[in-house]
Amino acid sequence: ASIFAAVEMAPRDPILGLNEAFGADTRAEKVNLGVGVYYDDNGKIPLLAAVRTAEKARLEAMPPRGYQPIEGLAAYNSGVQNLLFGKDSELASSGQVVTIEALGGTGALKVGADYLKRLLPGASVYISDPSWENHRALFESAGFQVNNYAYYDAATRGVNFAGMKASLEAAPAGSIIVLHACCHNPTGADLSDAQWDEVVSVCRSRGLVPFLDMAYQGFADGIDADAVAVRAFSASGLQFFVSSSFSKSFSLYGERVGALSIVTASKEEAGRVLSQVKRVIRTNYSNPPIHGGAIVAAVLNSPELRQMWEDELAGMRERIRAMRTSLVEQLKAEGVAQDFSFVIAQRGMFSYTGLSAEQVEKLKADFGIYAVSTGRICLAALNTRNISYVAKAIAQVIK
Ligand code: PLP
Repeated sequence: ASIFAAVEMAPRDPILGLNEAFGADTRAEKVNLGVGVYYDDNGKIPLLAAVRTAEKARLEAMPPRGYQPIEGLAAYNSGVQNLLFGKDSELASSGQVVTIEALGGTGALKVGADYLKRLLPGASVYISDPSWENHRALFESAGFQVNNYAYYDAATRGVNFAGMKASLEAAPAGSIIVLHACCHNPTGADLSDAQWDEVVSVCRSRGLVPFLDMAYQGFADGIDADAVAVRAFSASGLQFFVSSSFSKSFSLYGERVGALSIVTASKEEAGRVLSQVKRVIRTNYSNPPIHGGAIVAAVLNSPELRQMWEDELAGMRERIRAMRTSLVEQLKAEGVAQDFSFVIAQRGMFSYTGLSAEQVEKLKADFGIYAVSTGRICLAALNTRNISYVAKAIAQVIK
């Protein structure tokens, strides 16, 4: 018999299943709000002008394709540090921070998780309730037990901060705490600056290991404003991990450009940690691909291209904000009595709308509007042509 004869079918990924159903829907007016991707006002994934310019220059230079160092391109890694820790970061220039180029934010989380399993084999991992659906599976596959900490408050559609703090205070010392640095996925509910300071204090007093996941830097208020959590931990003197991604901020999803940064206590410690992280990488994929990182590094290290990118990033951020405001206004204009202004307060690409699974189902069946059954919608899938259709449909299903 075949060695695969008894293999069971794995459960379908709910979002991919949604995309397949959307693809098969023949209604012209259909809208997919289930995605985790930024679309422009024409409903297309943008190719940024800064990226285009850097790619053209690289194509003309026709560089050879040797192996990269295990940790990736130095100019890329320093560019990542510059964005995360700030332009004149003493922490970054001290040499205490290890940064490696990773295969997207997911790859960064996986390298970090595998390394942490070697460093702290008995630790447990805590993720927010709810969290990005891959966090749990990813840390479990690295061998960790994964628990939730309280996070979302359905009543206020914001953060249950008292609950979150209580969960963190109850976590055993040495636990790994995965924190969404900004633009929480899936809820859109973020901590305030003062609340971040409190989280830093709890991590310090309880001896917790923070792992910040930064997948949307620049999508809420701006590059530096969105780094407030990273900056608060940087100022604390604690050791912590940061996974970061350019999938969204550079619209380079398929190039798999991300990074893992580890803040250690000294330059000497950083050298030893890097040597161990390199062993993790070497046995996973050896070294990262060249193209995406080279493009990002070229943009970040050229003042003109960097300005171009920052302007384009601001454009994406402002378009999402405009869609938030417009959706709230249009729902009101459709006669919806319920206050949806929380959608404006939520940040990043997503909103937990509070729509029930039945209402989501009705949106799909009656209108061809697809969303995740939890009521999460992607604001970046709305545009000036589909938004009034969506607002009318939502108004219908909640009446
Ligand atoms: N972390 C969070 C919270 C995300 O939402 C995402 C992407 O959706 C990622 C990590 C992974 O990003 P990437 O596509 O770069 O692997």
